[in-house]
Amino acid sequence: MVWSPAHGPYKLPRMADTIFSKILRGDIPCHKVYEDDLILAFLDIGPLSYGHTLIIPKEEVATLDQLSDETAAAIGRVLPRLCRAIRAVTGVEQFNVLQNNGPMAHQAVFHVHFHIIPKPSADQGLGIEWRSKKLDPEEGAKLAAALSKEIGG
Ligand code: AMP
Repeated sequence: MVWSPAHGPYKLPRMADTIFSKILRGDIPCHKVYEDDLILAFLDIGPLSYGHTLIIPKEEVATLDQLSDETAAAIGRVLPRLCRAIRAVTGVEQFNVLQNNGPMAHQAVFHVHFHIIPKPSADQGLGIEWRSKKLDPEEGAKLAAALSKEIGG
C-alpha cells in the first residue's frame, strides 16, 4: 500500500525486507567496497556523483532510530574510514553524508543506510534546499530540556 495523508499519520515501517536485504543475502549483486560482521558498503547504483557509496547494517531495520547500539558503533567506526577511502580514490575533498528516514524525508529503500556523496563541484553531488528559521530562545530552552530528559542526558 502506498501511504497518503488520507491514511492518517505516517508510521515508519518497522520491518525491512528490501532490495538491500537481497544484496545482503547475495540474491542480487553489488559493487562491494567493504564488509565486516555487522556492515556492508557498496556503490550506489544511481550515483549523484562519482564515488557515491552506501553503507548499510546487516541488522534489518528500516530507520536509524531502530538501530542497536552495537551496529551503530560499527557504522561509526567505519564511516570516517570509508570517507577517507572515497576522498583518496576520487580526489574529491568535499562530501556529504546523508541518511534519510521515511518517505517524506526522501527514503526510498526501507533498510537503514548512509550515503557518502562526493561534492566535486557546485552542480554535482547532493543539492540541498536549507530552509532555516530563527530559533526562539524560550522555545529552544524548553525543547532542549524535553529532549535531554527523554534521552536521559
Ligand atoms: P534513499 O532515498 O536514501 O532510500 O536512497 C536509496 C538509494 O539506494 C538510492 O540512492 C538508490 O540509487 C540506491 N539503490 C537502490 N537499489 C540499489 C541497488 N540494487 N544497488 C545499489 N544501490 C541501490
